[in-house]
Amino acid sequence: MQASAAAMLDGSPVDFGASETGGGGGGSSAMVYLHRIEGCLVNSECFRELAPKGLASRRFSFFQPAKNQYRLGVTSTEISTGGNSYPVLIDSGVLATAGDRIREKLAPARCATISDTNVGPRFAVPIQKSLRAAGFEPTLITVQAGEQSKMLEQAGAICEQMLEAGLDRQSFVIGLGGGVIGDLSGFVAAIFERGIPHVQIPTTLLAMVDSSIGGKTGVNTRAGKNLIGAFHHPMLVIDDVDVLKTLPERELSQGFAEIIKHGIIADANLFRNLNEMSGDKLDCLKQSSFPELIRQNVEIKARIIAKDESDRKGERASLNFGHTIGHGIERASNYHGISHGEAVSLGIVAACEISMKKSGLPSSDRNAIVDLLSKFNLPTKLPASFPRQRIFEALKFDKKFEHGQIRFVVTPKIGSAYLSTDVTVEDIREAVKIL
Ligand code: NAD
Ligand code: ZN
Repeated sequence: MQASAAAMLDGSPVDFGASETGGGGGGSSAMVYLHRIEGCLVNSECFRELAPKGLASRRFSFFQPAKNQYRLGVTSTEISTGGNSYPVLIDSGVLATAGDRIREKLAPARCATISDTNVGPRFAVPIQKSLRAAGFEPTLITVQAGEQSKMLEQAGAICEQMLEAGLDRQSFVIGLGGGVIGDLSGFVAAIFERGIPHVQIPTTLLAMVDSSIGGKTGVNTRAGKNLIGAFHHPMLVIDDVDVLKTLPERELSQGFAEIIKHGIIADANLFRNLNEMSGDKLDCLKQSSFPELIRQNVEIKARIIAKDESDRKGERASLNFGHTIGHGIERASNYHGISHGEAVSLGIVAACEISMKKSGLPSSDRNAIVDLLSKFNLPTKLPASFPRQRIFEALKFDKKFEHGQIRFVVTPKIGSAYLSTDVTVEDIREAVKIL
């Protein structure tokens, strides 16, 4: 096994005896997963045995002995965030195999697929069909598309519908949609019968690379966003890149704001590769490397949150790069007209300005970041008429300004970031002034 694994790491084909079925049923689909456990490479069975003991790190590759035998070559990554570990399956067409994928982990039971009015009519039918074929009894619950559905009242109403449909402690919840549905369905899964399993099927790029990873679930209140919630990790995440074809371009760009952020804070190679990509939606989705792009981003987020799973130690602060001023811009606009990704893009530009002063970011790096944001149709300048003063008023409410101390994420160069206590309100004022 060691020799085979070494050869695979070199990229050479290896005839590897044991195989694990996967790839959408039909005996012809099979793949071999290798996993790194304490420096050794082992197969899946061994991985499952060792994973609960916390010895296993992530799945890092897959192997296909004879390519033409396979219907799907699913890129799979096993996310380990502290005590939790779950697979993220990424490919085109993987959505229609949801039933089999879940059946590998759960016994036949009733379940609820929670979706919204844009996504449900497009994608729920093949999922419900595959769930039934795998022996589950699914109920579809559709809520109005949009942030206004991420409310406690809506979560309560969904729980009532689930009880009426006969769901119980053995049941599970699937979230089929963007971050709104991911957060709402995850919260429902966390509270229904004191917690049942959750499967994420994200359908926006932002949800694939960001919100479906990390176990943060919740709803908004009149006082603010995400103020009620629970940590509840999914047991499985299924990213079908085909669903992104119907995603409006502006929503796709929001996902790229978080992807560019990941490149800036953690991966200079990713940043360089993004420069090579087309900014055009269709060209971009057609690229065969697109699932790989999602995998890289899932792993970056997982790696950062693993250091501080419940977000109490400040270790995941780098993920907030561009978000301090970004959140201020969102609030200042009353969450109208500027989307989260657009506000983050502007926040990144302002954070670069501050980083040039406080952490020595070269101006060439700042320019490369601004160019990349523009390429993915993200704004890099605030409209002249934007009420800039309101951004400062909004910042007072930011958690990161607790006890008057400013903790601001800066980048010294593309590929790294850290939390600074050296940034002043005046620095922020200056950066917003020239935005
Ligand atoms: P969203 O869920 O509102 O989706 C955006 C829009 O696209 C919606 O109108 C939706 O119906 C539509 N849509 C989704 N998939 C589609 C598809 N494939 N084709 C056509 N239309 C589609 O928004 P989002 O940007 O995905 O998520 C934002 C939410 O995520 C916010 O509530 C935010 O707080 C949350 N979030 C959570 C975390 C976390 O860690 N839990 C992280 C980041 C963001
Ligand atoms: Zn964000």
